[in-house]
This record gives sequence, C-alpha cells and structure tokens, in this order.
Amino acid sequence: MSADCWTLTLACNRADAEAMPEIGDVFPDLADPPSLNVEEPDPDQPDAWVMTAYFNEKPDAGMVARITALFPSAHHVVLAPLADADWTTMSQRNLEPVRAGRFLVHTAAHARARRPGDIALAIEAGLAFGTGQHATTLGCLSALDRLAKMRRFTHIADLGTGTGVLALAAARRWKEARVIASDIDPVSIAVTRANLRDNKVAAGRAAGQIELVVAAGMEHRRLSQCAPYDLIVANILAPPLVAISRPVSAALAPGGVLVLAGLLRSQATRVRAAYRKHGLVPLEPQRGKGEWPCVVLVRK
Ligand code: SAH
Repeated sequence: MSADCWTLTLACNRADAEAMPEIGDVFPDLADPPSLNVEEPDPDQPDAWVMTAYFNEKPDAGMVARITALFPSAHHVVLAPLADADWTTMSQRNLEPVRAGRFLVHTAAHARARRPGDIALAIEAGLAFGTGQHATTLGCLSALDRLAKMRRFTHIADLGTGTGVLALAAARRWKEARVIASDIDPVSIAVTRANLRDNKVAAGRAAGQIELVVAAGMEHRRLSQCAPYDLIVANILAPPLVAISRPVSAALAPGGVLVLAGLLRSQATRVRAAYRKHGLVPLEPQRGKGEWPCVVLVRK
C-alpha cells in the first residue's frame, strides 16, 4: 500500500453487509475504484458488521457519500489515512495492553498485565472506537496523566466518548468528580455503559459516577446543565471540533482545561485558531509524535 492510501470504515448491519454490490457494477464511471471488504468482528454480535473501503488516494466528500449510501444502516463512519486508521482491524486481534503514564488499558484476557499503582481500565475490543490502541486515545490519556500531577478536576465532560475510555480514566483519576460522557452514536453509549459495568464505575449523576448521553457536540440539555466544566476532553475529528468551538469554549469555566485530539498535524493550527477566538490559549507545547497530535488549551 502506498503512503497515500486512505480507508473509509463504517459499521453496518448484516443485511447491508451481505447486500454489498460489486463496486464496478454500481460505479462504472470510476477509473480507480476502491476495494471494499466486509467482515463480522465479533461472532457474538452477528448483526454488527464492519465495512472497510481502501482508496489509493484521499477520496473527496462526494465519494465518501456515495460509498456510505451503499450501507443504509451505516454509523461510525471514519475516513483516515491507512497507517493510522486501521483500528477496526486491530480490534479484531487479541489486543496488547497499552500504557500511558499511570493508565493501563487492557482487555479481560490481559488483566494480568496490571502492576501496583496502575490505573487499569478494562476495555474489550468491539465496535466502538477507543481501545487505547490509537495514537489519539493514547495522547489524551497521557495528557490526563500530566494534568493529574498539576490539578484536581471536579466537573468533567468527555465528548465523543467511543468506548468511554477517557471518561473512565478521568473518573478513576479524579474520584470525587462528576463526569458526563457523550457520543453522537447510540452504539457507543451502549458500549460505554457495558464498559462502566466491567470497570465497576456506576452510571449516574453523583460524584464518582459517569452520566451518559447521546448528543452531537454540546447539543444536550444535560451537557449545558452540568456546565461550567473545569475539564473537557474531546477526541473527535478536526471539522466537528472547529464547528463546536463556540459552545465548548463557553462551557468551560475560567481556568478550565480543554484536551483535543482527532485532528491531524496539518489541521492543528486551524483548530487552535478556532478556539483562540473564544479565549482559549495553549497550556503546554503541542504533544504527540506523528500524525495525530494532542492539543491542550486553557480558558483565560
Ligand atoms: N474518546 C474515545 C473515542 C474517540 S473516537 C477515544 O479517545 O478513544 C470519536 C468518537 O466521537 C466516536 O465514537 C464518534 O461516534 C464520536 N463523534 C463523532 N462526531 C461527534 C460529534 N459531533 N459529537 C459527539 N460525538 C461525536
């Protein structure tokens, strides 16, 4: 695969996966059509399939829309450069535990990797994004670990929670905090609820618990009711992060910290500029080697 390869990954139901047409039949106009592959990552979830389209160059929005339209049940649609995007493939492997500061993210099969002093988070591989294997998740976990050495947070929001991994990390690190975790995708919230159970963290509104909501960006009554936050974490993608910069900034208390990831290195300046307009400045130099930096900002 060349360095320019891109993947479009989406989750869909079995019916859509099985009805996938021959790409040449539906798009005879394409000179270099993507190759499409469907698979069932978890035999215990026979209706949860994953489709991956492989492109030899970055597809435009029209192309993404055409492919997505072939799968009416599509959700979790993710477009990314191949090297960094292969999270669904990774999630089918027996994931190795990963460490970021004191945090250890592991599957049940690797519970023995725990060492004294670890804040261990048990996250099974599945359809939601956030097994700790992706650079963006690791970058956010490292940022939380650094912040824990400087600050105590009591009101925390995790936007785009995926598996709930960052919300769980925050709740375990700041035990007295109220945490609210949201995702645009109801499947993620269902996965997060199961992960809360596995990690013995209660779902709810009290201190030490995590409240779960399905929401796009800040668009939920509970997200505004629980503001202001002293910490917001959002590992989404650059365009939505820019789009929600105003309400997210407004939901931060003065001195509150914002951890952003999901943007590519080439998008960091634009994302930072969007938040600077609303009074947020860098708290530390940009971290994260490679293509997926983590940006930590503070509200003046
Ligand atoms: N927080 C996890 C998951 C990140 S993946 C981690 O760090 O590993 C990004 C998640 O954001 C996905 O679950 C996706 O469904 C969700 N998402 C995408 N756009 C969103 C939006 N506008 N508002 C809320 N969630 C969104």
